[in-house]
Amino acid sequence: MTNQSFRDSTQAMFQSTVDKLGLDPGLAEKIRVANSTYTVRFGVKLRGQIHTFTGYRSVHSEHREPVKGGIRYALSVNQDEVEALATLMTFKCALTDVPFGGAKGGLCIDPTQWSVDELEHITRRFAYELIKRDLIHPSQNVPAPDMGTGEREMAWIADQYARMHTTDINAAACVTGKPVGQNGIQGRTEATGRGVQYALREFFRHPEDVSGAGLSGNLEGKTVIVQGLGNVGYHAAKFLSEEDGSKIIAVIERDGTVVDRHGINIEALHRHIRNTGGVAGYPSGLVLSAKGPARFLEEECHILIPAAVEGVINETNAANIKAKLVIEAANGPTTAGANEILKNRGVTIIPDLYANAGGVIVSYFEWVKNLSHMRFGRMQRRLEETRNGMLVDEIGRVLSSNGLSGISAEFRKDFARGASELDLVRSGLDDTMREAYQGMRAIWRADDRFDDLRSAAYALSIQKVAAAYAAKGL
Ligand code: GLU
Repeated sequence: MTNQSFRDSTQAMFQSTVDKLGLDPGLAEKIRVANSTYTVRFGVKLRGQIHTFTGYRSVHSEHREPVKGGIRYALSVNQDEVEALATLMTFKCALTDVPFGGAKGGLCIDPTQWSVDELEHITRRFAYELIKRDLIHPSQNVPAPDMGTGEREMAWIADQYARMHTTDINAAACVTGKPVGQNGIQGRTEATGRGVQYALREFFRHPEDVSGAGLSGNLEGKTVIVQGLGNVGYHAAKFLSEEDGSKIIAVIERDGTVVDRHGINIEALHRHIRNTGGVAGYPSGLVLSAKGPARFLEEECHILIPAAVEGVINETNAANIKAKLVIEAANGPTTAGANEILKNRGVTIIPDLYANAGGVIVSYFEWVKNLSHMRFGRMQRRLEETRNGMLVDEIGRVLSSNGLSGISAEFRKDFARGASELDLVRSGLDDTMREAYQGMRAIWRADDRFDDLRSAAYALSIQKVAAAYAAKGL
């Protein structure tokens, strides 16, 4: 399917930006290479025999520490992929002003083939190998969920770290994406999908960008095709359809595609996939079998959201993509070659290093929460509530003393409410997504050398990483 490797594509995009920036070749080379990639092979006794697993933790750049990036569980995991993903993490963090270097981990495993107990065993053993080499550490290297992993695996990793560092008061900060009840943060699970929604909202706040993509108005009524209803695709599709009035007209999954021009009920479809393992038998809309489901990437729609794996938009299908706007919820879904084809055809792409940064942004909040040992909003919430209440009551008094109708109890309740942790997380995520968009947009609009959002995003983040190295000295 992919006719250019993910690593080649990432490198090509990096190189063309560096050339345009005229960056010192020595520094460019330092930024390009992954600093280190650790391969671990370990045995676990399961089902009466020893199984050997291969895992990686790659550190791309330590211009800031800790380095940050998820751990992926998939059979396709390999060194090239982990290094390319670690590279993206560096630029993702730089672009969004998240003060981390880039890293990524992966384990070659099909998680569906193992029971929960077995997975715990394997995860703890993998974590042990990384922890004993400080490749998981609150101040050096902080993993998070990625494809095939979630809060359950992160809780096991955190516990494993705590067992091996019994006196480390900051142990909980060794990994993010943990369950809320175990030092996680509200809003982390939904964060990447929420970030996709905030990115789209910000895009639609810029009429010039919207019309440049051949679109108009806002997200209301826009037709959307989503590829992959995993954690990221599910949340993005859910929020866009439930909160912004967009219509999800097709969901492409591994075993088939669900199509409904009137808009798919994402919650119902997600429940069906969870209960049955696939889209087959979904009772509403048209369900097409797996045969060439990727063909649906080429269907007519306003917005295409690839939210699964790398390289799905490549030289074989880029010329047929009909979406006006592609937002890369997945890492690396568009190859460098396809990127050129789409660009020449006037398709706007909101690039991965920006579009799916919501996860690491909220990971940053979780890490800070863990280090501060206190939930966000705990000190201010009631104070805010009291003050806001006083303000509303006073305005109500003035209004009624002037014969005007007062303030409704409902408004009072809404307005007076102090910010919860979830409110603060969403506010911080929204702010970060807006700022980052405006940063890359400024370059895109002002500098002819960077004529699309991706090259502008690379330019901005590479400059930030270069500045960090320059300031620090090598
Ligand atoms: N795996 C996610 C990503 O690719 C999140 C990484 C993190 O939170 O550290 O961005």
